[in-house]
Amino acid sequence: MCGIVAYIGPREAYPVILKGLKRLEYRGYDSAGVALLDRELKVYRKQGRVAGLEESVIGKDLHAHAGIGHTRWATHGEPSDRNAHPHLSASGRLAMIHNGIIENYAQLKNELVKKGYPFKSDTDTEVLLNFIEYIQDNNHCSLEEALRIALKRVVGAYVIVLLEKDHPDTLIAARKGSPLVIGIGKGEHFLASDASPIIEYTKEVVYVNDYELAIIKCDELILKNLGNEKITPYIQKLDLELTAIEKGGYDHFMLKEIFEQPDTVFDCLRGRLDVGKGTITMAGVQNHLDKLSQAKRIIIVACGTSWHAGLIAEYVLEECCRIPVEVEYASEFRYRNPVIHPGDVIIAISQSGETADTIVAIENAKEQGAFIFGVVNVVGSSISRISHAGAYTHAGPEIGVASTKAFTAQLVVLLLIALKIAFEKRSIPEDRYMKLLAELQSIPEKIKELLRSADHIRNLAEKYKDARDALYLGRGYSFPVALEGALKLKEISYIHAEGYPAAEMKHGPIALVDENLPVLFVATRDAYHEKIVSNIQEIKARKGKVVAVISEGDEIITGLADDIMMVPVTDEMTAPLLSVIPLQLFACYLGMAKGLDVDKPRNLAKSVTVE
Ligand code: GLU
Repeated sequence: MCGIVAYIGPREAYPVILKGLKRLEYRGYDSAGVALLDRELKVYRKQGRVAGLEESVIGKDLHAHAGIGHTRWATHGEPSDRNAHPHLSASGRLAMIHNGIIENYAQLKNELVKKGYPFKSDTDTEVLLNFIEYIQDNNHCSLEEALRIALKRVVGAYVIVLLEKDHPDTLIAARKGSPLVIGIGKGEHFLASDASPIIEYTKEVVYVNDYELAIIKCDELILKNLGNEKITPYIQKLDLELTAIEKGGYDHFMLKEIFEQPDTVFDCLRGRLDVGKGTITMAGVQNHLDKLSQAKRIIIVACGTSWHAGLIAEYVLEECCRIPVEVEYASEFRYRNPVIHPGDVIIAISQSGETADTIVAIENAKEQGAFIFGVVNVVGSSISRISHAGAYTHAGPEIGVASTKAFTAQLVVLLLIALKIAFEKRSIPEDRYMKLLAELQSIPEKIKELLRSADHIRNLAEKYKDARDALYLGRGYSFPVALEGALKLKEISYIHAEGYPAAEMKHGPIALVDENLPVLFVATRDAYHEKIVSNIQEIKARKGKVVAVISEGDEIITGLADDIMMVPVTDEMTAPLLSVIPLQLFACYLGMAKGLDVDKPRNLAKSVTVE
């Protein structure tokens, strides 16, 4: 959460930072701001979107070759101009941006208030900034030295970048727990929360690690640890093209990303699946096949949409590999002292690879001897680096705040992992294994086919856009799809929606059913088909409106439902890869029909880097 950008070099800093903030706006849009330093330190901040900031600085002095910028997802203090970053220190000498939470800010603030420090905002960020200034003044030391001392007292997570008025030739940054990438250009440096603001200028980047400090000048990058020892920067080449982070003709990133799924699923399978030979090639799994196939237990740790992918993986892994699986919310798992045995395998799923709760959950499990396998989308992200092994989802940058293509890519990776382990264990009949490989291979074409009915789904969204609530039901592999469909609707259209196992509805939710309630059934063909047909009858008998996602050719449900969304026939295990897509489209079109910004839903931000 929160996007940070900084620049130092021969270009004008402001346009570079502004463009970067627009690229990072998916991370937070409560306020935006910049601090620009030449002879003067100029700070401009505005509540709301980056476009609002851009408008508010027209005619102002924006000249500088060094600057920092921030787009905020508020944790401490309401979204407002005065809580917007960058913050200025009490003396006005330092400006700082921050992504994260300073947990012991109240204690530090008390100490500073006693020493007479004034505060102009409600943020934890300003407390840290004034604390750094206080240490610098008290010790008569450099900003770098003051930062090192201050950070030893700080509890929490941060990426911070500082400007110091009398040193326009230097940016100072530090990281613990939140992401920071530094792009290395010719005589210039770019800093950002992810690589998207950087790729247009350079492909050479350094990912800063926890407890590292960066001292950055135009032509020099020095990395140090908190003990003041130099660290050699590890320069990596970015494998990312500019077109991947642009809208490419679509009005919304979310829509573009839904329509990209034939390609992203294909990319995720490419080089891994060989149906002819009956093989799955995944180095991360192959190199640790003993550990994975002999696991006594697998614990899947994730949040949000990734957690739903984890639930589907639980069903697949248990059925194919006969290994007990638990699926945990990372935020609960990390705090509830779970029992972890050395042979346990943790699969951590995260699109960004930066999800704060997931990172801490796996760090704890790692300390207790568990083997960590990461399933992430962003190459080089924190989870990919702290895991023992892993597999990337190769879905490309996902900018829409509501996850779509990353979810289907996660499912593909998790299916491949399960099938590879199952084949190794001989826990799956060979003909079933071969059939599933062939099914997986056919999925990109089948997604293409189902996307042809997008206009029909747009009409349905129009029809149901005034609903106040919605119920999503499914059984077996379709149950987590129902949860995911409900989540998409909630986040994009602000319609209250619940996902439930279809059989559970009789234990409560059926009381909600009346002629105004749309009930969305995920009812593709599977082993429980007749059961879900009965559940549909039960809703119809109570006058509920039934919208059903069904397999092509299902005449029974077509005859029963008020409306249908059709997907091509596939195996029940691969069905979620298809059945979720009409639900993504439904939520997206419904949000659009209500005139909402589907890429940036209210109160949300992508990449939840705070607890
Ligand atoms: N805790 C800081 C604030 O509330 C930074 C939040 C963020 O990461 O955007 O301003």
